[in-house]
Amino acid sequence: MSSKGRAKQAKYIFVTGGVASSLGKGIVASSLAKLLQARGLSVAIQKFDPYLNIDPGTLNPYEHGECYVTNDGAETDLDLGHYERFLGVPTSQANNITTGRIYNNVITRERKGDYLGKTVQVIPHITDEIKRNFIILGDTGQYDIVLTEIGGCVGDIESLPFIEAARQLRWDLGQHNTLFIHLTLVPYLASAGELKTKPTQHSVKMLSESGIQPDIIVCRTEHPIPLEMRKKIGLFCNVSSNDVIEAIDAETIYDVPLLMKKEKLDQRVLYKLDIYNDKDADLDQWKGFLGKLKNPSDSVTIGLIGKYVELKDSYKSIAESFIHAGAANETKVNLKWISSETLTEDGYEKKLEELDGILVAPGFGERGIEGKINAVRFAREKKIPFFGICLGMQCAVIEFARNVVGLTDAHSSEMDKESSAHVIDLMEEQKSVTNKGGTMRLGAYSCKIEKGTLAHQIYGKLTIQERHRHRYEFNNQYLEQMKTAGMTMSGINPDSNLVEIIELRDHPFFIGVQFHPEYKSTVLNPAPLFVNFVKACLKNAIPLMRGAK
Ligand code: GLN
Repeated sequence: MSSKGRAKQAKYIFVTGGVASSLGKGIVASSLAKLLQARGLSVAIQKFDPYLNIDPGTLNPYEHGECYVTNDGAETDLDLGHYERFLGVPTSQANNITTGRIYNNVITRERKGDYLGKTVQVIPHITDEIKRNFIILGDTGQYDIVLTEIGGCVGDIESLPFIEAARQLRWDLGQHNTLFIHLTLVPYLASAGELKTKPTQHSVKMLSESGIQPDIIVCRTEHPIPLEMRKKIGLFCNVSSNDVIEAIDAETIYDVPLLMKKEKLDQRVLYKLDIYNDKDADLDQWKGFLGKLKNPSDSVTIGLIGKYVELKDSYKSIAESFIHAGAANETKVNLKWISSETLTEDGYEKKLEELDGILVAPGFGERGIEGKINAVRFAREKKIPFFGICLGMQCAVIEFARNVVGLTDAHSSEMDKESSAHVIDLMEEQKSVTNKGGTMRLGAYSCKIEKGTLAHQIYGKLTIQERHRHRYEFNNQYLEQMKTAGMTMSGINPDSNLVEIIELRDHPFFIGVQFHPEYKSTVLNPAPLFVNFVKACLKNAIPLMRGAK
């Protein structure tokens, strides 16, 4: 394997899924990667998604959950968020590839004449392009192991080319350089009082029909899988019972690395990949986090005001950031998901009164916007800790312009083209953009923080980098007016002069950020804005009312 000064020769692990979707392939992949990383190996995780969109940036959050943004501005699948939160290593465009991107690359090359004279086909042209992408990260020489999660379920027509390309890669690189892990479900039939292995057998059979014999089978289950059952699965699926791994339902996703360690998943993987590593996975810090998460000494209730609240995955990174920040404060954060559309109804204040803090979430389009603005007003006037992210910050600007500056008609040009005060507006360079995919202000940008502000206190430094995903911006034409009325612009982009952070002074905690701090929060490095917001909510909470433990 790798030796000092020499580039590493990567080995490839593929994680496929069967029986049902949503079994948690991303969490199993992240947990295995965490264990390998904790043994001193350098690991990358990537996700290959079978849909035809070039990336998930154009998908409705209801359809696909949150769109996760990387430092380099890629709009990606939310599983990449788990990879970063578990490993603490940034991902990039190379870590998320879709069928759409693969076809786009091949068809662009065909038009350039790269295949002149040839019939362009799924095999070998599409599968070759998939294989080229499978090994891009491995070829950098930075990784011992590249883990690839293949989206969808085995047997889906659309994921077949990925499966075929993975099969070919094993043929190209050999047994000890490639490994297949198949995640299945072992359902519990309450009426029979039994766990059932048949769906797993069928799923593995289907995978073998595509030429792949899994090396390890991970079984999602609600109940422990006894040895006899592991032997049975092993017998029918051609693996040793040691390679039938139980993935029992966990209290939190952050328990899964420890559960997988108990099941010796990392040991089996290393053995099969012929990697000699006798280090014990160092998970002390991880366990420290879990200890705090599970033994909170206090609790707060925070309202998450958004328009996609019915599907919690739409705000995945925000919810996870609160878990990290809660643990950092040894506090249980109870998130109350409130649909902003309900905050224009009579008596809406009742819903907000019981909250220790208010977060107005990111979002797009007009629906629910007035409810968000009402929530900001409530937080500002009643001095409840407020945190606005992206659209949430824009709402704070609109609310302040309307109710403090007196620009009663103030709005964002995204929501109201006719308003006479577009305090939030498109930048000049965005006005000519017509394509929707990948054209927002995306990825990491620098932000200069003003000394002595709340932002400075939170970050403890004067230059930060955070990730963006939006088209509209604070309109600097209104800068002086807003400042005079008492709003502080505490973070500015040093290159474009765009306002990135706003805050109010005569308030216990009122901050809005144009960027998305939730994308950078990890288990071992919680986002400072979330940590401090929870702290402020804790201060605001009245012990008797919040039912402190
Ligand atoms: N819709 C707003 C914009 O495009 C905010 C986007 C967001 O909240 N991510 O600027």
